Amino acid sequence: MKKHVSNARLILNALGKLTEFFKTLNPDAELDLSGDDCFDYPLDIIRQTMLFDISVLYKVSNIIDDMLILEVIRVMDPEGLRTDLKEGRKIRLFMDGRRKRYINEVRAFTSKKTSHINVAGLGCDIMGYVFFPRDFGGAYLVGGDFFGKESGIRDFEVSAMDIMCDLLSTILLKTRFKQKAEVDDLTKLYNSGKIKEEVSRILSRFSRKPGSVAAIAMGDIDFFKKVNDTYGHIQGDIILSEVGRIFSESMREYFDVAGRYGGEEFLLVFDETGADKALAIVERIRKRIEVHQFQKVSETGRPLKDEFIRVTMSFGVSQMDEHSLPCEAADWIGRADNALYRSKQNGRNQSTIFKMDEE
Ligand code: GH3
Ligand code: MG
Ligand code: MG
Repeated sequence: MKKHVSNARLILNALGKLTEFFKTLNPDAELDLSGDDCFDYPLDIIRQTMLFDISVLYKVSNIIDDMLILEVIRVMDPEGLRTDLKEGRKIRLFMDGRRKRYINEVRAFTSKKTSHINVAGLGCDIMGYVFFPRDFGGAYLVGGDFFGKESGIRDFEVSAMDIMCDLLSTILLKTRFKQKAEVDDLTKLYNSGKIKEEVSRILSRFSRKPGSVAAIAMGDIDFFKKVNDTYGHIQGDIILSEVGRIFSESMREYFDVAGRYGGEEFLLVFDETGADKALAIVERIRKRIEVHQFQKVSETGRPLKDEFIRVTMSFGVSQMDEHSLPCEAADWIGRADNALYRSKQNGRNQSTIFKMDEE
């Protein structure tokens, strides 16, 4: 694995740039911190700033007595030099050092410090320790595998790496907590508080940008109580989560944000989009849901082979423009709800645009 030549000045410059980078980092920037891919972004920062190739990412998966179990999460080894390290492989390390092979990794972990490590012949350098609480994925050791002459990491590089890993831990934690506070667990969409905030944010922009237009859509699953009563609550939850996925997938293409407004009610926000266009998009999604085969499960949540359930949704769309103002977020949402009510009254599985004179 290649290690670029670096020197103290270069590293200091890099750290300076990193600090600037963190300062300019948009606090609302979306970092995908779900799953193991959440490290792509931090690893990229390290790579660019330190000019290292981070070649191994270990996850501390368990500690049993004197044994530390590391899981290899990521290996970059295009030259095939580390055949012993494969993604998913569990490495057992004895902390009392009975086995020499990974002794330095153990030391790095037990001292909870990053460390300048090179095991002669094995080429395992552990350089950083990034911390997550256990329910957010646990702790990670960032390692590089360098060989021969390239294997030595110098003290200043280790110190820089130390700082960087601390910064990364902080950023990842902050982002993760923020996400947790804004995202609905079941549907993975924004929760009610956050989606209302989005509606307010767009409204507040109207005063600064006259002539803007935006639309929201309130959606509600039809006869959802009956689904719960007939097939059980677990089935209901599966449908909610699947509907959330359908919205998320459509979101990238057609609209800005979606949130779970209440139990089985969803709110979609279309910035810089009029009601007619929003309606066309909502109709496309409504039809997609109508034909979607939702996996049927037993009362205990076991998927039933080749058995599916269908559900439908109704929507109400409400446009905001300079003629509809002044208006609070609650009024705007209320108008979408009003149009949704009409869709329900007219037989469900349809979408309606709010008209002022029908209020
Ligand atoms: P309508 O077509 O008029 O919307 O009929 P509905 O049965 O969908 O409407 P209603 O408001 O009477 O029922 C909503 C149901 O949604 C009631 C509740 O059991 C269910 N529900 C709300 N939140 C959840 C949830 O988190 N999980 C599950 N499984 N069900 C939920
Ligand atoms: Mg309903
Ligand atoms: Mg409802």
